[in-house]
Amino acid sequence: MNHTRLLIIGSGPAGYTAGIYAGRANLSPTLLEGMQPGGQLTITTEVENFPGWPDGVDAKELMDNMRRQAERFGTQMLPNAATKVNLDVRPFHITLDDGAEWTADSLIIATGASAKYLGLSDEQKYMGQGVSACATCDGFFYRKKVVAVVGGGDTACEEASYLAELASKVYLIVRKPHLRASKIMQERVMNNDKIEVLFETNTLGLYGENGVEGAHLVFRKGESDERKYDLPIDGFFLAIGHHPNSELFAPWLKTNEEGYIITEGDTPCTDVPGVFAAGDVADPKYRQAVIAAGSGAKAAMEAEKYLAQ
Ligand code: NDP
Repeated sequence: MNHTRLLIIGSGPAGYTAGIYAGRANLSPTLLEGMQPGGQLTITTEVENFPGWPDGVDAKELMDNMRRQAERFGTQMLPNAATKVNLDVRPFHITLDDGAEWTADSLIIATGASAKYLGLSDEQKYMGQGVSACATCDGFFYRKKVVAVVGGGDTACEEASYLAELASKVYLIVRKPHLRASKIMQERVMNNDKIEVLFETNTLGLYGENGVEGAHLVFRKGESDERKYDLPIDGFFLAIGHHPNSELFAPWLKTNEEGYIITEGDTPCTDVPGVFAAGDVADPKYRQAVIAAGSGAKAAMEAEKYLAQ
């Protein structure tokens, strides 16, 4: 059995920043990097809105720098994911994917959220080459180009409106004959000349020689007037929701109906003393690297206070 005073689970901006702060506070934390070291940012290319990088920074380089900074202050990195936890016992008990057993006096959960995809093989094929699940991250690369956003909720409408500021044309691909988004967002989309809503439309696949050049669509799938056609586009944005990676902890922690971990006020404290949540796993709203990093810092500071008691 291995023991650590503080176990940080997750290696996005929240996890690494927690590592930097906790390391500097001499807590010698252990950090589980999980299946996707560097987190969601590693699926994008360049980050242009992280403060301190006036000319932008390669996402992998940014995450690698955060990792090295955490290591510099003594955070021990493990290339593992947690597969089982028990928060009923003290110290907390954690099983890793290689079978190793760990105990920890405190825990920072920074496991992030994952964008939902349609499940098309073309989404994988063109990932980072025209397929994105984050308009704020990648929209800038589609200035004066034609893009499509999939989804009919608030996120899709928000992303379509955001992209309309940059792109020359935005198609909103909606599977139902109506939008699910709030009235105000619906109106914003319907009143935007640059946005064209394609109701009752599903995506069958994507095509293109060098990245996405278009989408294979179907109108009124399965109906007598079904129509298949190709829509030329340069970018394909998914906005069909995210799911927080909180399943492992949900039996012990308060979560909202979508599974996001609920913390007390604007603190990272969960309802289990000694367990803190940072980054997207507890943030259904902003989903930004800089905000996740800030919440990771807060979580480390709260963990330090908890361990000192
Ligand atoms: P939602 O679950 O609200 O909407 C998801 C959308 O994606 C729906 O239109 C759904 O279609 C569609 N969808 C889901 N799966 C598929 C699929 N396989 N193929 C095609 N379309 C699909 O998620 P959001 O991310 O939009 O919002 C999450 C929550 O966050 C909501 O409560 C929302 O109100 C809130 N939010 C609020 C904002 C604000 O207030 N400014 C901004 C962003 C989000 P269908 O309708 O047919 O199910």
